[in-house]
Formats: sequence, structure tokens, C-alpha cells
Amino acid sequence: TTGKGTDYVKAVYESVIKRNPNEEEFHQAVYEILFSLAPVFDRHPEFIKAGILERLVEPERMVSFRVPWVDDQGKVRVNRGFRVQFNSANGPYKGGLRFHPSVNASIIKFLGFEQIFKNSLTGLPIGGGKGGADFDPKGKSDMEMMRFCQSFMTELYRFIGPDTDVPAGDIGVGAAEIGYMFGQYKRIRNANEAGVLTGKGLDYGGSLIRKEATGYGAVYFAEEMLKSTGDSMDGKRVIVSGSGNVSIYAIEKAQQLGAHVVACSDSSGYIYDPNGINLDTVKQLKEVDRKRISDYTLVHPEAEFHPNFTDIWSIPCEVAIPSATQNEIDAKAAKQLIAGGVKAVVEGANMPSSLEAIDLFLDNNVLFGPAKAANAGGVAVSALEMAQNSMRFAWTAEEVDARLLQIMKNIYSESMKAAEEYGSKGNLVVGSNIAGFLKVARIMLAQGV
Ligand code: GLU
Repeated sequence: TTGKGTDYVKAVYESVIKRNPNEEEFHQAVYEILFSLAPVFDRHPEFIKAGILERLVEPERMVSFRVPWVDDQGKVRVNRGFRVQFNSANGPYKGGLRFHPSVNASIIKFLGFEQIFKNSLTGLPIGGGKGGADFDPKGKSDMEMMRFCQSFMTELYRFIGPDTDVPAGDIGVGAAEIGYMFGQYKRIRNANEAGVLTGKGLDYGGSLIRKEATGYGAVYFAEEMLKSTGDSMDGKRVIVSGSGNVSIYAIEKAQQLGAHVVACSDSSGYIYDPNGINLDTVKQLKEVDRKRISDYTLVHPEAEFHPNFTDIWSIPCEVAIPSATQNEIDAKAAKQLIAGGVKAVVEGANMPSSLEAIDLFLDNNVLFGPAKAANAGGVAVSALEMAQNSMRFAWTAEEVDARLLQIMKNIYSESMKAAEEYGSKGNLVVGSNIAGFLKVARIMLAQGV
């Protein structure tokens, strides 16, 4: 469109660039969302008048804090922790914590901004937040991890709570780290507030299927996308990048649905196994031994290891599920995937495709499932974990899995519906942004400035 809506989003986008210099990832996420919302403002001038976008792009609160900790040599080290409480219209701030050396304000803000719309799309009452630290878990001992997590929570605890802000895991933060952080929160608060963190261990308030939820959900979403063209995951040649929590359970569900997953990766490189990835080996290496993916070839000598992980997209496949990290698919990788005959790209990671890559997929009629829709299963089951904690009761795996499947189907149909209503039939990028946005905008309007 070229109307009032476009003028409005342009002006807000420019103010974001000006006010947040040098935050490339944040700009990218804001750009991708804002420009797809233009047709909404053409139809809803009341959102412009209420300054909904100006308010949305400015976090309600953003904290950064010192995280001092003692390493195994007795030396004091210092990292920087963050929490962005982006938007609470739809419920308590909700979103993961990322421990990775690349973490900075821009990355936390892009993730937190995305989270607002993703969380709204789940249909569950959760606002948007995100946090983390520029701490590298690689090579740290278990005791170093514990001391770091405790120190991190010694600062974070004052900002969070089961009705205020509920963190969970993300890259570098799994059940072990959540356990150490929960222990410290409980110690400081002298209260067992189970709903303050999600992704907890099953013995102390965690939900069944939370661990599997992001990966399973992404594949449920892929199945919905393929179904719309009379197709399915069955028999598909699939690449899943990464080999963390999202990837492992995306591979598991894809294999259960009859797909042939031939490659996965970590930051050291990728493996290609023409016989299909042996998931037991990947789980042993990654969930138990904390080893590099290259060791896969020690167990399966017929597999190949290649040191450049971005080259994984040069392997021909029909379904690609990028599940490693942001911007792992650039224009070059997108062209390789298209040349290799890709039918569907389903984002397991947050913002794994660059803006150029997304345009290439859409222009070449590749089915494209954007992260905020496709990977929302993780945070959706986090919200189900909160619900179970509030009830002081736990559902069975079957119950949670059935709810997850239904939520993913709803996200798909609501996104398709919004895309069609606003003139971009079949475009899930536009559809998921608009569907996620509308609920938050209505709530903000209802609740006043
Ligand atoms: N880190 C996940 C995400 O990007 C999950 C967040 C959560 O469970 O709160 O959505």
C-alpha cells in the first residue's frame, strides 16, 4: 500500500533507527514487522491516533546489570546481563534468556520485540520479554555454570515474578541452568513460586513436552503448510540446522512423520548423513556428552563433516528448518536452497532468515513459515506450564501435546486468515505479524495510555 499506513510506519521506523543507533538486529526485526502492518493502519486510524506503534517499539523497561562470578581458578570474571520487558498488554512479560557471547542490547531487543507478536499469536495471556548475558557456556564446568546462574539471578530476581515477568530458556540456557536459577530465586524470595520460570525440571513444576515443544511445534506447523498444497512431511528430504533443543525435537517429529532428515549442524560445522541422521547419536553427543557435532562421524563413518556451518544450505532438500540462530540464511543460502528445489522453509530459530532471503523465498513461491508463527510452540507450552503451576497440577504428555498441536493449527489458520483479510493471501509473514499485532493493539487501546 501507499496510503496513510505506509507513511505512519515509515515515520515510526525512522524514529527507531534514530533513537537506537547501531542496533542492526533490532532494526531488522522492527522493519520486517512494521512494514507488513501498513494495511492495518489504513483501515484503523484509531491505532495511529493512540500512538500504538510509537508505544510498541519502545520497551516498557530495559535493564542491564553486572554479573560477577568466580571461575574454577578462583579468578573473578564479569559479564553483562540484560532483561527487556517489552510489552505487558497481553499478560506478564514472557520470553527466554540467552547466554551467548554475541548477546548485546540489540539482540535482546530484537528477540523481545518479536516475542510480543509471537506470544500474542499463541492465543494465551503472555506479554513480550527477553533477556540473557554475554556469557559463553562453552567449556564451562558445571560448578562455573551454577555460580554464574546464581549470580545472574541475584540481580534478576528483583525484576521478575509469576505475575510480573516469567523467563525461560533460549540459546545456552536449558533445564540445568533454569534449575540453578530457580534454586537461587527461591532462596532469595523464601517462596516457592513455581510459575516464575518455565522450562523447569519435571520433578519441580516443569511441564511434560516443554522440552520438545519448539521443535515439535515447528514440524506441526510445517505439516499444516504442506497440507495446504495437498502435501505432507512424509517422505520429504529435510535439513534441520543446529543441534540444540529446537533442532533435536524438530528432527524427532519430522522422522516420526516419515521425513528423511539428512543434515544438522553446530557452530563448528555441519554433518551430512545420506542414510538419515541418527538422532540417538545426536542426543548422546549434545544432550549428554556436550560434544561437537563433528564427533558424529566417529560413530557413523559414512556421514560427512564440513567445517562451514552456513554451507549446510547447499545440500538439496525439500524442507528446510533453520533452527540454529539469527541470520543463518542470507541471500546466497536462500538462492542455494531455491536451486536445490526447496518447497518449504520453516523457521525454528528466531529470525534465521535475512530480509533479502525472505523476499527471495516469497518471490519464488517457496512456502515460508516465519519464526514468530512456526516456533511459537515453545513459548506456548511455557504458558501451559504457567497454567499448570497456577493449578498446582500437571497434565499428561498426551494432554499437553494435543494442546500444542491445536495451538499450532490455530496459529496457522489465524495467520492465513489475517493475510487474506489484509490483501496478502498466502503470505504468512504478513499474516502472522498482523494477527499477532491486532490483539495487542486492541488491548493497548482498551487499557489506555
Ligand atoms: N526462547 C523461546 C522463544 O524464543 C521460548 C521462550 C519461553 O518459553 O518463554 O520463544
